[in-house]
Amino acid sequence: MKLYNTLTRTKDDFKPRFDGKVSMYTCGPTVYHYAHIGNLRSYIMEDVLEKYFRYVGYDVKRVMNITDVGHLSSDGDTGDDKMLKGAKREHKTVMEIAKFYTDAFFSDCKKLNIKTPDVVEPATSCIDEFIRVISSLIKKGYAYEAGGNIYFDTSKLKKYYVFNDFTEEDLAVGVREGVEEDSNKRNKADFVLWFTKSKFDDQELKWESPWGLGYPGWHIECSCISMKNLGEYLDIHCGGIDNAFPHHTNEIAQSEAYLGHEWCNYWFHVHHLNTDSGKMSKSKGEFLTVSLLEEKGYDPLVYRFFCLQSHYRKSLVFSYENLDNAAVAYGKLVAKIAALLGEGGEVDKAAFDELKKRFTDAMDNDLNTALAVTAVYDVLKADTNGATKLALIKDFDRVLSLGLIEAAEKLAKNASPAEEELPEEIRILAEERKEARKAKNFALADEIRDKITAMGYVITETREGTKITRK
Ligand code: AMP
Ligand code: ZN
Repeated sequence: MKLYNTLTRTKDDFKPRFDGKVSMYTCGPTVYHYAHIGNLRSYIMEDVLEKYFRYVGYDVKRVMNITDVGHLSSDGDTGDDKMLKGAKREHKTVMEIAKFYTDAFFSDCKKLNIKTPDVVEPATSCIDEFIRVISSLIKKGYAYEAGGNIYFDTSKLKKYYVFNDFTEEDLAVGVREGVEEDSNKRNKADFVLWFTKSKFDDQELKWESPWGLGYPGWHIECSCISMKNLGEYLDIHCGGIDNAFPHHTNEIAQSEAYLGHEWCNYWFHVHHLNTDSGKMSKSKGEFLTVSLLEEKGYDPLVYRFFCLQSHYRKSLVFSYENLDNAAVAYGKLVAKIAALLGEGGEVDKAAFDELKKRFTDAMDNDLNTALAVTAVYDVLKADTNGATKLALIKDFDRVLSLGLIEAAEKLAKNASPAEEELPEEIRILAEERKEARKAKNFALADEIRDKITAMGYVITETREGTKITRK
């Protein structure tokens, strides 16, 4: 399988360090607000990746953190504390906010058929681990204390900007409009490992440490939670593209300084979901959620389908018009599958293998989900029997998780008008399709079925025979 690796800037052959096993880490949500559908695009694509690894036979262990402390509004350690902002907004404690939005996140994931990672760890449950690793970094000379905080010294590294060829001048780290610079830093790119002197006097969560009462920086949590659960070598690390710098760059810096060797071989970054007016952002406060889509009548799986129709390395523009198109296409797809239900026959092994290869070829080429979805259409059009088609769709949906069979079964169950109500032309077409099937001319049978579908009717094969119902 080839995967684009941000570290090498090429599509690399994916080979885990240990045969047959994949260790996978995902940056989890910062739980101060609902996840927006942009965040969820990243989690959908990572879910597909994880499921594809399993599909091809890897034994996957996937770990995700929950950021419930230390993430400031600028990823470069300045600005407001996001959790505190959420607590103030809702007049709740930070832990109440964290619990509420962690639950909301997993509820959204469930609606989108996103599997929960094997291990989920909130940052607040790993404080001892952070202190241990930071102490070691200080001992090794990679970290220093200034103004009460502990900083990572990026000048100690041979190469800090691993993902790009930026220089300090290109990137004024942590300096964004309206955000002040931290004068404690020895180098612009240095970042905070532990805060004791923060400007947030009302910071709720603080822990004892060798450097005083304080709390961890955001970057250290992912390194520690990964190493704690997956050991000193990580096969693949995932996140949205905005995480590549500075978050993942800092993770690499501190993990490799601590370990004394290379840490993670593959970096998988999902590009952004944008709206016409730009990047969707939680901190701006106005954003689209799964619940909002549901309120507007969309099935969350239509959003998943919309995401899979484009490549994860291209930014994707969200609009209701685009989502409507996805909803129509998804509905048609489900109706076509519903028409196959109950078809008898044995799975044709040769046809199965040939069509499955189209799917795996697409996925093996840098997780091309758009082509993998096309492979589903290829199955529906193929000159083979219904049993083979259904078996293939079920198989692909282990990865795509579009709920295709379930939705088709639901559709078939709900459709039950009497045959007599069918217009003459539909009955003639149905008769012609029956003849074509008898003659094993599946291509013609499918063509006729498409015609019937286009005329607003659904064909379902039940134990009692073919049923045609209004859509
Ligand atoms: P956060 O909860 O802000 O820490 O972000 C959770 C995940 O969503 C991270 O992997 C981000 O990189 C990713 N992300 C943030 N904004 C977007 C977006 N507009 N489109 C896709 N992914 C995003
Ligand atoms: Zn992270």
